[in-house]
Amino acid sequence: MSIKDALQLMKDEEVEYVDIRFTDPRGKLQHVTLVADLVDEEFFDEGFMFDGSSIAGWKSIDQSDMKLILDPDSVYIDPFYAEKTMCVHCTVAEPDTNEPYSRDPRGTAIKAEAYLKSSGIGDTFYCGPEAEFFIFDDVRYSVKMNKVSFEVDAVDGAWNTDTQYEMGNMGHRPGIKGGYFPVNPVDPAQDLRGEMLSTMKRMGMKVDKHHHEVASNQHELGLIFGPLTKQADELQKYKYVIHNVAHAYGKSVTFMPKPMKGDNGTGMHVNMSIWKDGKPLFAGDKYADLSQEALWFIGGILIHAKALNAITNPSTNSYKRLIPGFEAPVLRAYSARNRSGCVRIPWTESPKAKRVEARFPDPSANPYLCFAALLMAGLDGIKNKIDPGPASDKDLYDLPPEELAEIPTVCGSLREALDELEKDHEFLLAGDVFTKDQLDGYMALKWEEVYAYEHTPHPIEYMMYY
Ligand code: GLU
Ligand code: MG
Ligand code: MG
Repeated sequence: MSIKDALQLMKDEEVEYVDIRFTDPRGKLQHVTLVADLVDEEFFDEGFMFDGSSIAGWKSIDQSDMKLILDPDSVYIDPFYAEKTMCVHCTVAEPDTNEPYSRDPRGTAIKAEAYLKSSGIGDTFYCGPEAEFFIFDDVRYSVKMNKVSFEVDAVDGAWNTDTQYEMGNMGHRPGIKGGYFPVNPVDPAQDLRGEMLSTMKRMGMKVDKHHHEVASNQHELGLIFGPLTKQADELQKYKYVIHNVAHAYGKSVTFMPKPMKGDNGTGMHVNMSIWKDGKPLFAGDKYADLSQEALWFIGGILIHAKALNAITNPSTNSYKRLIPGFEAPVLRAYSARNRSGCVRIPWTESPKAKRVEARFPDPSANPYLCFAALLMAGLDGIKNKIDPGPASDKDLYDLPPEELAEIPTVCGSLREALDELEKDHEFLLAGDVFTKDQLDGYMALKWEEVYAYEHTPHPIEYMMYY
């Protein structure tokens, strides 16, 4: 959509406010709302000044002025505000030079796409993220979390459905891992998910399905793939809609990777493919009908996976998900068949749908940084012809222990991931897509989280040591 189209939409929809939105380094959507009269062609050209010092990980107070540049192609009408409001996603620029601000995640995503083009390898990087989430009841959330911490083993899952608490034994509750796929009333959130998906559809988002996930109270909605930056915008909208529809019903949604001990965690598989001149680069005649480039791309993902973890699995909680036994990957291996490795090649007959699925990311990641970092790792693989080795088609967890021990793993903690990123980040700096200053700022934020976590006594420590 051009600036003219966006202004026309404002007229047609009788828009009262324009909500300009951007994403901070931790991945949170931020906004400021302007009276629509202010927003004309000149405003789109010039941008909006704001104080960047209040955003964690950005500028210090002595150099706080920053500029938001509106992307007319990203506009949509907000479905929740009482006053008619048009939303626009922005990139962040330096106020004096209009140069992209190097710590702006959306700017990084745009630079990654430009870098792909300049490399000559391809012109479009498509991402299809599958972000799962849990829905809990807002009012009883704290009560339930206490029960999760202290009583999960004793009561054998009896705590873990809203319906049961609310209505006693109705005889149709799922047990742990019983929610995937029985129809309602065992599936308690059909209408909630339906409203989430319909809201997205009405906003012009491309969606295809919704379903209960494997854990109790865990769900997933299907977002159709798109090019990197646009798809990261879509994922921000996806989370926004899911949070707000749930909120309207007195529910609370979390995208944290492992809210429940002993049940599946929340992943964000990212399906990826590169296209060049309208043709899919990943389709070919090698393993699983992949091309040589796709195999090298996988090689790059696997070799850099531990550094990637700091961006694709950026919370202390992420590493409670990356353990064996819950469909989350631990081993740095790839396969067309089993789901226990970091990379899977989903089965498809169509060369156009040929893609590589990274299974380790989770939705606590900043989507702009996550997709950009995955692309940079894959491109490094293609440029340096990194051989991913043979595929692992057996269930990796069935291997004898000595064979299993040979397979490298992902990181076991955010601390380890940050150390790995410190050692291995040159591949992100290629073409100035990420910058050292940006990574330093990002890592400083994440170390704060590591210290907060490591320095706080955990409830389980009282159980074990009090
Ligand atoms: N929830 C699983 C994970 O943590 C994924 C389940 C699935 O295959 O959809 O990655
Ligand atoms: Mg899923
Ligand atoms: Mg998947």
